[in-house]
This record gives sequence, structure tokens and C-alpha cells, in this order.
Amino acid sequence: MSFKVIEKKDLDFFNKILGGNFVVTDPEMLKENSHDETEDLSFFPEVILLPHKTAEIQKVLSYCNENNICVTPRGAGTGLSGGAIPFKGGVSLDMKRMNRIINIDEENFQVITQPGVITEELQNAVEEKGLFYPVDPASRGSCFIGGNVAENSGGPRAVKYGTVKDYVLGLEIVLSDGKIIRTGTRTLKDATGYDITHLIVGSEGTLAVITEITLKLIPFPKKRLLMSIPFTSEENATKAVNVILKMGVIPSALEFMEREALKRSSEFLKESSVYIEVPERIEAHLLVEVDGNDTDDLYNEAEVITEAISSLTEEDIAVAELKQEQDKLWKLRRVIGEAVKMGSIYKEVDTVVPRSILPALLLMVKKIGEKYGFKTICYGHAGDGNLHVNILKEGLTDLEWSAEVPKGIKEIFQFVVEMGGTISAEHGIGLVQKKYIPIVFSTETINLMKSIKNIFDPKGILNPGKIWPD
Ligand SMILES: Cc1cc2nc3c(=O)[nH]c(=O)nc-3n(C[C@H](O)[C@H](O)[C@H](O)COP(=O)(O)OP(=O)(O)OC[C@H]3O[C@@H](n4cnc5c(N)ncnc54)[C@H](O)[C@@H]3O)c2cc1C
Repeated sequence: MSFKVIEKKDLDFFNKILGGNFVVTDPEMLKENSHDETEDLSFFPEVILLPHKTAEIQKVLSYCNENNICVTPRGAGTGLSGGAIPFKGGVSLDMKRMNRIINIDEENFQVITQPGVITEELQNAVEEKGLFYPVDPASRGSCFIGGNVAENSGGPRAVKYGTVKDYVLGLEIVLSDGKIIRTGTRTLKDATGYDITHLIVGSEGTLAVITEITLKLIPFPKKRLLMSIPFTSEENATKAVNVILKMGVIPSALEFMEREALKRSSEFLKESSVYIEVPERIEAHLLVEVDGNDTDDLYNEAEVITEAISSLTEEDIAVAELKQEQDKLWKLRRVIGEAVKMGSIYKEVDTVVPRSILPALLLMVKKIGEKYGFKTICYGHAGDGNLHVNILKEGLTDLEWSAEVPKGIKEIFQFVVEMGGTISAEHGIGLVQKKYIPIVFSTETINLMKSIKNIFDPKGILNPGKIWPD
């Protein structure tokens, strides 16, 4: 599909709608919006538009639809599947000025927000009222809540609290032709017609632009304990995940980090006080967090966990009660992606399997890596069976990177799907995983999904080139 190249008369129109400061063609700024955090991919938009209200987005989309100009919505650009990259040029519709929390409803435990609010800022704002929005991608300090909704993001706390889809009650969206639609309700129950809200959640900016979000909140748990558990065997660390959950304790986070992941993040943070030594014998760590309102109860749960895994590790378990100590450990976990990226370009594969399959998945990933000659660093949300596999370019030629690695990824995905899992748990399909979609869906399912896209966006102007194989 080809789109109209943006001309002066189009820029004049955008200037009239948004004002000159918010129509950007400066090459440095275009470069900024040409990429997200995915590998080293870069496709330039022709213009960046920075709306600050729904009515502006409505006018922009109506014009672009009429004139066959493609539009790629953009949150904070922290995506790991290339979703916000303007693959076909056109408009990068940047949501950073849509950054207002509209209302925190303390009576009904809800927040209504614009999409350009940084997730952590939203969490802090509701926490001040004693409320909790628990979905916390490791990127929460920089990603936007709108990007989270568009990706159906998860994060460490999904094991107990679920992902974004479990909190979205309703949306305001603008369709590709500029029509404004409200979906869902402000109630916890809704059995009225088709569930368009949850069709938009995770649709990666391909069906509509999200302009307002209503989220459910819960009471903020007052206490947390964080356990750092070392293992001398990766396999035992992954086996421990199910052992813990079978004890009837649902941790608020259950994260796996293989040795190399922790080592790199620790070295990355060496300048700060966060550095920790990882002894040679330690192959992997689990971070296990429990939360609630009573410290004694949490220590009891920690005791249950320690006993349950005693046959899998004899190493000392550190238990952090102070927020400062917990923040330090979380920082080590949250910066792994950045730390790995500093050393090498990498492809991130966001595998997920039923939890009990996790030990087999890790073994299979390492075996496939050996077969195709690539190194992997694995970590992730083990409590959800969600393993992030970072495939490193270091040591590979360009040819091996482009020809051999995709064969390995295909085999990993085939294994994952055979085991009842899927090829993206929380990072979306975007640009980089679309060629693997036929591993997951039949032709009939793909055609059904494409016809839904066609109803929402008949001219295909919204985020073209994403999700579906060419
Ligand atoms: C260090 C690091 C750690 C991460 N950890 C996690 C993690 O733990 N869990 C997790 O799930 N993800 C994680 N991510 C991935 C990423 O942060 C999430 O996918 C996040 O939700 C993207 O938000 P964003 O605002 O950056 O969106 P962008 O990257 O800008 O966009 C993502 C997608 O959403 C679409 N989009 C954005 N805003 C809108 C809108 N208003 N309307 C319609 N479509 C829109 C875009 O078109 C694109 O397809 C991590 C990323 C990094 C770099």
C-alpha cells in the first residue's frame, strides 16, 4: 500500500490546526521519532504532530484519511517491537502533550487520564490517595499509559495483579476517519454488546488513536518484602517458580534473572551504590516480592517460600524490608535491557508458556542458541511463564545476524506455541515479530483479524506495516 507524500499544503493545514510550534519537520527531531527501543531500526516520519486535545486529533485524522496520509501514533517510544516506528513515513502522531490526569475518583476507585501521562507519575498520583494502579512495566519511569494500553503491557506484578487489560474500564478513541467513539463504562461490570474496549487494548495503534482512558484502581498494599534468592543452577531457579506458587502464596512479583543478566545490570550501575557481586557459582536469581498490610503475615509467607525451595537452593536468601533496599534490587532488575543494549545490539524475543513449561523453555532456548551460534541473555516475569530472551549480535557477522538468527527465533517460537504459549506476552508484534504471526494463527484467524482492521480503518492509514505479515 502506498501513501501520499506530505506537501507544503498539508503542512499548512496542520499548522492551522495545531499551531506552528507543534508541527515539526526539524531533521534531528524526526530522527528522534524514527526509532523506539527496538534493536537499531529507524524509519523517518515526514512530520511530527503534537496535539494536546482530542478535537485536534479528530481534525488531523479526518484530513489524513481523506488525503491518504499515513499516521503512526507514538507514546514515549519505549516499545520493544517497533510499534511506534513510522515504517511508511507520513505523520508521527506524538502524544506527549496529552499528559493530563483528568480525575481521580476516590469514591469509586478509578482514574480518568489522557494517554501521554508517564505510567509512574500516574501510579504516584493515585498512591497519594491510598490507591494502587499495579501494572508496572520495567519502563514505567518513561513509558506512557496510552502506550501501555495500546500494547496491553504487563510487568513484574502481573503474576498477582494481571496486565493492563484487567484495569481498563473504558476508552475514548478517534477512528481513522476522525469519528470520536466512547467504549465501555465506568462500572466494574458490563455485559452490553461487543467488548470494543478490549479489542482496542493491545491493538498497537492499528485500529484507533486512544485519547482518554478510564482505569480501575485497588487499595494500596501498605507493606512489601522483597526476597533475593540465588541458585547454583538455572534449571532449579525456574523449577522453584512453580514450587512457590503451589504453596498457595501468590507473590506480587516473581522474577527470574540468569547470571549474565544480573552481572551486566550490576556493572551498568557500578558508578552508583547499587553494584552487587555475583559469585562464580551463582547461575541465576529469583526476585520474589510479597505484599499486604501486615508485616508479620509477609514474614510468614517468606518463611513458607524459603522452606518450599530448600531442596533447590542452599544459598543465603536476602530479605529486604526497607524501601531503599528494595528499590536497589528492583533497579538491578529494571535496567537489564539497557545494560544488555549497552554491550551489544540485540533482538528481544518475548516468549510466554504455561508456567510449568518454563524450565523446558529455558533449556530449549539455550539449545537453539548453540545450534545457530548465538548467545542469549534470559530474564523476565517467571511467575507468568514469561521469559525475555535477548539474542546478542556481539560476535556474529551481519550475514549470521540476518540469516541464522531468524531461523533460531522461528524454532523458539514453534516450541513455545507447541507448548501452549505464544510469541509475545507483553511487547506486541509491531514490526519485528510480524513475520512469525503464521506460527500462531491459522489463515482463517488472520483473515478475520484483517477484516476487523478493515472495518476500523478501511484505507489502512493507521500504523501501516504492523502486526500482519506483508
Ligand atoms: C527498559 C525497558 C523495560 C521494559 N519493560 C517492560 C515490561 O516490564 N513490561 C512490558 O509490558 N513492556 C515493557 N517494555 C516495553 C515498553 O515500555 C511497553 O511496550 C510500553 O507500553 C510502551 O509504551 P510507550 O508509551 O513507550 O509506547 P510507544 O513505544 O511509543 O508505542 C507503542 C505502541 O503503542 C501505540 N500507541 C502509543 N500511544 C498510542 C495511543 N495513544 N493510541 C493508539 N496507539 C498508541 C504505538 O503506535 C505503538 O504501536 C520495556 C521497555 C524498555 C525499554
